[in-house]
Amino acid sequence: MTEGRPLVAEVVAEFARELESALRAAGELVLACGVPELRFHGQCPCEDQSCQSFYTAPPPDGEYGPAHREVWLEADRGGFLILDVVGDDIAFVEVLHRPDVAEALAASSVGVAAARAKAPCRDRGPA
Ligand SMILES: [Zn+2]
Repeated sequence: MTEGRPLVAEVVAEFARELESALRAAGELVLACGVPELRFHGQCPCEDQSCQSFYTAPPPDGEYGPAHREVWLEADRGGFLILDVVGDDIAFVEVLHRPDVAEALAASSVGVAAARAKAPCRDRGPA
């Protein structure tokens, strides 16, 4: 299911390194070790220009459940960085106010492809 998804480290390479070091700084070593394996499951569907959040697991069907926790991190380069963690896996990376991440997402062909694949067909208009 997660095979075939691009790696976060490919989509937003610099941000992935920043995320890993922020996790190490926070003592979240298990999560830090998992960052190179994280897969990109599409951007947050909200239209907020300040939101660069993305999924690293299939979006949940409703609530995350009891194994869910939030991890708040200090981002080296500013903005807000909050992770949704389920068990030992990062499920959603909330990134706000990071134009550099928005640029990386926009510049990444895999990011665009993931976003397009997520959009309902009727929103694409005539081919
Ligand atoms: Zn959003």
